Amino acid sequence: MVEKYVPRQAGGIFRDIKSAALDILFPRRCPVCFQIVLPKGALICPDCIRKLSWVRRPTCKKCGKEVIADTIEYCFDCSKGRRTFEWGAALINYDERAGRSMAAIKYKNKREYLDFYSEAMCRKLGKRLLSMKADALVPVPVHSSRMRARGFNQAQELACGISQKLGIPMDTSILKRSRKTVPQKNLDPAARLKNLEQAFTAGPVPPHIRRVILIDDIYTTGSTIEACTRVLRSAGVEKVYFAVIFIGNGQ
Ligand SMILES: [Zn+2]
Ligand SMILES: [Zn+2]
Repeated sequence: MVEKYVPRQAGGIFRDIKSAALDILFPRRCPVCFQIVLPKGALICPDCIRKLSWVRRPTCKKCGKEVIADTIEYCFDCSKGRRTFEWGAALINYDERAGRSMAAIKYKNKREYLDFYSEAMCRKLGKRLLSMKADALVPVPVHSSRMRARGFNQAQELACGISQKLGIPMDTSILKRSRKTVPQKNLDPAARLKNLEQAFTAGPVPPHIRRVILIDDIYTTGSTIEACTRVLRSAGVEKVYFAVIFIGNGQ
């Protein structure tokens, strides 16, 4: 089932009153400093935009991570590991500030911060995402117990926002999390990948879905995106791309 998200119908004056009342009761807070955002209507403080470490070129041709020189095609991780996804795009380098913002989203239920991130992803990465010519956006699923505890899946909230803005349908049925992953710390990369692959199941994939963009909040070693790619490809998806808010160094 493909869920196509379209912006909600405007509800005229009642909607305006409702949103004004909500603004007074719950003023929007900044995803970086957590203070009330000024000017009204903005999604982030103007100063805080500059505090984020935006990904700059040159970047790895595979994962979109910053590399130190134009002459370097692939980052260290991509040059040594086999990648079956096509390529991906990332918005912000993961640092302490990014970590605090993400923790607030995940553990303090600040899902509205994702409005800023999905808008920024479309503004800065939109062209690249559209060039992937994807049939669907597929959020990386979380296990149902985590979904119940948190109340939402941040990757799905993000995919939903991007879907609305870029007009690419979101699909939440072709990729599922079948079980919780066991702690990965002591596993080598190959064992980690195997462990992760077993955590996801895919299918059935409708015939019109040939190319997909996996959406997640963060990319570190790439093992989650790689595991999802392998599972989707074995279920018949031809090309898998990805887009994330944050990209960090492998652990
Ligand atoms: Zn701020
Ligand atoms: Zn790379």
